[in-house]
Amino acid sequence: MTTPQRIIVIGGGVVGISSALEFQRRGYQVSLLDPKQPGRETSYGNTGVLSDGSVVISNNPGLRKRLPKLILKKSNALNYSLGFVLKRLPWVARFLSYTTEKHLDHSSQALRALQAHSLKLHLNLISDAKAENLLRRTGWLKVFRSDSSYKAYDMELKVFERTGVGHTIYSAEELNQLEPALNPIFRHGVLLHDACSVSSPAALCDAYLKLFTDAGGNVILDAAESFQRTESWIVQLRDGEPLQADAIILAAGPWSAEIAKCLGYKIPMAWERGYHWHLKPGTGPALTRAVHDVDAGYVMTPQQQGVRITSGVELADRDAPLDISQIEQSIRSARQATSLGEKVEDAPWMGRRPTLIDSLPMIGAAPRHRGLWFNFGHQHNGLSTSAASAQLLADQFEGKSPAINVEAFRPDRFRL
Ligand SMILES: Cc1cc2nc3c(=O)[nH]c(=O)nc-3n(C[C@H](O)[C@H](O)[C@H](O)COP(=O)(O)OP(=O)(O)OC[C@H]3O[C@@H](n4cnc5c(N)ncnc54)[C@H](O)[C@@H]3O)c2cc1C
Repeated sequence: MTTPQRIIVIGGGVVGISSALEFQRRGYQVSLLDPKQPGRETSYGNTGVLSDGSVVISNNPGLRKRLPKLILKKSNALNYSLGFVLKRLPWVARFLSYTTEKHLDHSSQALRALQAHSLKLHLNLISDAKAENLLRRTGWLKVFRSDSSYKAYDMELKVFERTGVGHTIYSAEELNQLEPALNPIFRHGVLLHDACSVSSPAALCDAYLKLFTDAGGNVILDAAESFQRTESWIVQLRDGEPLQADAIILAAGPWSAEIAKCLGYKIPMAWERGYHWHLKPGTGPALTRAVHDVDAGYVMTPQQQGVRITSGVELADRDAPLDISQIEQSIRSARQATSLGEKVEDAPWMGRRPTLIDSLPMIGAAPRHRGLWFNFGHQHNGLSTSAASAQLLADQFEGKSPAINVEAFRPDRFRL
């Protein structure tokens, strides 16, 4: 019997945990490396949507029209630090260069295939992990306060038609019946009826991690600092003894570009930061699903800790101090939309969506190093797409034909 290959997964967010579990299930000897308890960074505080239809990327052709409003900070969907934008001007310019119809078509087809496949895999994993108590099959609801914002959403509806995203359109009266927790300020609604959500993304990470550790998976609480490639890989750690492995999977979300830089890669990544704050439910009917208040640029979702309000995008340095103005505005808007009580915590949580210039993740072999694999850049959809990303990576690793086309996610689509 041959000894199984040793694999180190760097980063224990939902993408790293899913990757570790997938490779372990295929018989590899896997260690998961993270300085923190896994699932406690971006994967901790997101909105918890397992989407099959988040297929219209932020840098879509409509962004060009909305740009003046966004630059003038007249939309709560975007906040930005001017210093960051000026420092990262080449990244911003490259990101904007993808606002074409051609790329919208390409990315929406690729994301739809990835998300639809991933949702099926998540439902299996959730069942394996006996985590059905976290799962809600109530869809993902977009609501519109004005006729004009609903009209502008037509572009997204057309993409849903083209890519086969299941959705139902609701009038104001029908919305009241569908989600009685909403105040009657919304004129239209669109429900992505096949999407699911979880009541705690962190608990989902814990449940997947338990599958991994119960089957003998090794979790090392330390940070990867540098790498050497000889016959095998040597990973130098911040605190512990160096580790040896036959292959490395880099899945450190927003830290991946910095880590890949040690190996000479220039990854075109920036961070779309986002906040959440929990509020106690109010006295009205309870919210039953994740609701995106499109005009007001935030999402609210019932979670174990309370009603989680999540903010839109903040473009700022990864580790810059918090700016709570956007999440405070989101909370004020959410209070118009539903009945909410006091804040649960004294301060908000902040996470960083890892975004590549074309808004697609990298899932595949690193271009210049044998035995180095990339799985990062999952932007707004990493919870949803983690299960399929892990499977597609493992298929490529084993030289098998992946279940869906992975061309759009190849790391070598860029000159790194
Ligand atoms: C407000 C908000 C709402 C969102 N809502 C949704 C949603 O509803 N649905 C959805 O699908 N997605 C959503 N997302 C996006 C999603 O959360 C991310 O795409 C996903 O969590 C990324 O996971 P990850 O594993 O790549 O990164 P992370 O979860 O950030 O994990 C990276 C890990 O790498 C570790 N690490 C860092 N440096 C090192 C090192 N040197 N060595 C080892 N490990 C290291 C970190 O400690 C961390 O645990 C949302 C994001 C935000 C911010």
